[in-house]
Amino acid sequence: MSTDLFIYNTLHRNKERFEPINPGKVGLYVCGPTVYGDPHLGHARPAITFDVLFRYLKHLGYKVRYVRNITDVGHLEHDADEGEDKIAKKARLEALEPMEVAQYYLNSYHKAMDRLNVLPPSIEPHASGHIIEQIQFVQRILDNGFAYIKNGSVYFDVLTYNKTHRYGILSGRNVDELISNTRELDGQSEKKNSVDFALWKKASPEHIMRWPSPWSDGFPGWHMECSAMGTRYLGETFDIHGGGMDLLFPHHECEIAQSVGALGHETVRYWMHNNMITINGQKMGKSLGNFITLEEFFTGTHEKLEKAYSPMTIRFFILQAHYRSTVDFSNEALKASEKGLERLMDAYNRLEHLTPGATSSTDTSGLRQRCEEAMNDDLNTPIVLSYLFEAAKTINLLHDGKETLTIKDLDELKSLFNTYLFNILGLSTTEETGAGQQNDDAYKGAIDLLLSLRMEAKNNKDWKTSDRIRNELARLGIEVKDTKDGFEWKRLQ
Ligand code: ZN
Repeated sequence: MSTDLFIYNTLHRNKERFEPINPGKVGLYVCGPTVYGDPHLGHARPAITFDVLFRYLKHLGYKVRYVRNITDVGHLEHDADEGEDKIAKKARLEALEPMEVAQYYLNSYHKAMDRLNVLPPSIEPHASGHIIEQIQFVQRILDNGFAYIKNGSVYFDVLTYNKTHRYGILSGRNVDELISNTRELDGQSEKKNSVDFALWKKASPEHIMRWPSPWSDGFPGWHMECSAMGTRYLGETFDIHGGGMDLLFPHHECEIAQSVGALGHETVRYWMHNNMITINGQKMGKSLGNFITLEEFFTGTHEKLEKAYSPMTIRFFILQAHYRSTVDFSNEALKASEKGLERLMDAYNRLEHLTPGATSSTDTSGLRQRCEEAMNDDLNTPIVLSYLFEAAKTINLLHDGKETLTIKDLDELKSLFNTYLFNILGLSTTEETGAGQQNDDAYKGAIDLLLSLRMEAKNNKDWKTSDRIRNELARLGIEVKDTKDGFEWKRLQ
């Protein structure tokens, strides 16, 4: 199968036509969360970006194996090789088992992702469940002469590797500059060179998360898990590896060095990176007081938020920017997104109640192809949304009787919304998916039924019943409007 999908490959700094290694199948690996804190906006962007890629690849007819890992070991305080394990630290402070901490935050991550309508990946492997694979991977790197053992820890030998390969190929950095920019090794360091990174760390006596290995009782370096689990589930070469731009260096750069060091070749064909999120122009950070969790957005409980924003508003806001652009969150921007999303949803709901005409007075036939072209152009979701807004404008003109469409053209518009707005962009009228979606259909059906009974009551001049239905629905947060063809309703936010 060949498609016209072009994606930006960070490795070659170019948009390239996507050609999978195995026809009809795609292997996709995305770096998932380190589960030691509440999910926040920084988690939402990569999850939504690669959810849209996952959905679009499936829409194109590919069978996709989507692996998104869970980091529950080896992510140290000072990022690379030093400091306490982030999960173990939380466990120590709260007197819990490290795996209790990991499970607690994994549960809240899953809950937040469900509410954002992010589909679950095909496989969600835990780093702590793949220690054997990681040890084997480290052994292969040692056997090939690209690593050394020091006091029970194993380090990647960047300078030796760089003689025959290029460390910095992904990030465009060069080893000499890296060396001059990192601080000098103090006499304490076990590393030969400051740019070397840990593949395996010997655990200090107080370190609780530890496993036996040929070198010491210890734990894997953070970068190791993705090399080991990616090849474990997707093979020694696979199609796409994604993640946030903050992971490009050192995490993904080290992954490439590890894979080449162990296997003799690169594993990934296309590297994709989503850009970052700022809040009122500033980087998110606990010290800046602008670190807002997803739960705080959904409930409006953070002091920087003027109100609560629904998960779909957050999703819509993220998709209004191209994934390679930065996104800046502000109350104004979120309120504008809320309105924009409502406009699209209202148009879709109106579409269900329009009366077809004998002829079409306007041409909507090109919209589907233009949406597809935008998606094929490196997942240009803001352009897709602009076409859906164009469709919404037409729907409003139809509603006001200023344009007409035949039943065939109306059905095509409905199908366009279903394909692009709901299936590919993953926006929904309710938060829930799966079983929730079926409940939602039942709920809509029940309200439509009540409102048809209200129409009958009105026709029989039974004003008491008709008013009672409208007032009771209003009390439940459902606004009913009478139109020339019958009625419209919507759920107020
Ligand atoms: Zn990773």
